[in-house]
Amino acid sequence: MRRIDHPLLSPSLGAARQLSSFHFGEAGRGEKVYIQAALHADELPGMLVAWQLKQHFAALEAAGRLNGEIVLVPMANPIGLDQTLLGYQLGRFEQGSGLNFNRHYPALADSVYAMVRTALGNDAAANVRLIRAELSRQLAELPVKNELASLRHTLHGLACDADVVLDLHCDARAALHLYTGTPLWPQCEPLARYLGAHATLLATESGDNPFDEACSQLWWQLAERAAADGLTVPIPPACLAVTVELRGQASVHPTLAERDADAIVAFLIHRGVIGGEVPPLPELLHPATPLAGSETLAAPHPGVVSFRVEPGATVTAGQPLVDIVDPLDDRVTTLASQYGGVVYAQENRHYATTGMELAKIATATAFKTGKLLSA
Ligand SMILES: [Zn+2]
Repeated sequence: MRRIDHPLLSPSLGAARQLSSFHFGEAGRGEKVYIQAALHADELPGMLVAWQLKQHFAALEAAGRLNGEIVLVPMANPIGLDQTLLGYQLGRFEQGSGLNFNRHYPALADSVYAMVRTALGNDAAANVRLIRAELSRQLAELPVKNELASLRHTLHGLACDADVVLDLHCDARAALHLYTGTPLWPQCEPLARYLGAHATLLATESGDNPFDEACSQLWWQLAERAAADGLTVPIPPACLAVTVELRGQASVHPTLAERDADAIVAFLIHRGVIGGEVPPLPELLHPATPLAGSETLAAPHPGVVSFRVEPGATVTAGQPLVDIVDPLDDRVTTLASQYGGVVYAQENRHYATTGMELAKIATATAFKTGKLLSA
């Protein structure tokens, strides 16, 4: 195991933060896996999983069982981790700018395509190497203007040439679920099985460039541009990037963390990055569904909120799910899913302001367009 500390751009006199990455195995031999936790710094289940993974990877490396390279960033956001307001941690948005730490990563498909277009050939592996080299070069040359940009730049630089990227997050209160690119589902399905995902939400474009898409989307965008140019060159979806939502913010428990770390190790054995006997694949709990079919139940008026089902419940269209009670004007509203599906996340606060999003349901019906993720 090798530790590298990456200093971030200093935001202010006397202030300096750094990011630490831990490297296992051998770069350039076999696949590269990149795993980070707590990019949204108030989402801590992943940090505990990452620490468990660190012990696993160190032992596996010592046993000579790594067939590739693994890069682990157990704490991906030193800026957000250090933000508190009136006793509450604020880890989703940078306090100074209001920007979401998991949005606005650079989209480089056009500029990479312009540089590699004439060099692409019939060898898929050679195309992948060419594209990764150009992507890394362009990323390294991007200007970095402040501390947040420097954090994004460092994380993206560590991950951009990986075959597998796992970004460990959680929701407010949730069942384990995944977000990934639609073309990546066949590669992602074993991960969904090992982790016991209750939902996997697929999109080719979620909106606002979250980290996983910055790593994966470029590949199918390049394939589309080549096809539009009449080039018959193979460009595979060479980065399986997945946002792994490890239940809810309070789901920080050593037993859960051990189970999730074991599942990720099992997936990496299945993938061939770790040597050993492949653990049997569990049943897939639920088929993947379109992110455009994620139904959000929002409060039509303020009130006290109670939930009738737990996250992970499979519900039918019209089934009562959430009650909102206004104790002053005696308004009582019960919300139901229009389509039915799996309730994969809920709000963890029990007072709703008007319009507040209270529950999310993975449905099989793609009914939304435009930006598909919440802010
Ligand atoms: Zn998150």
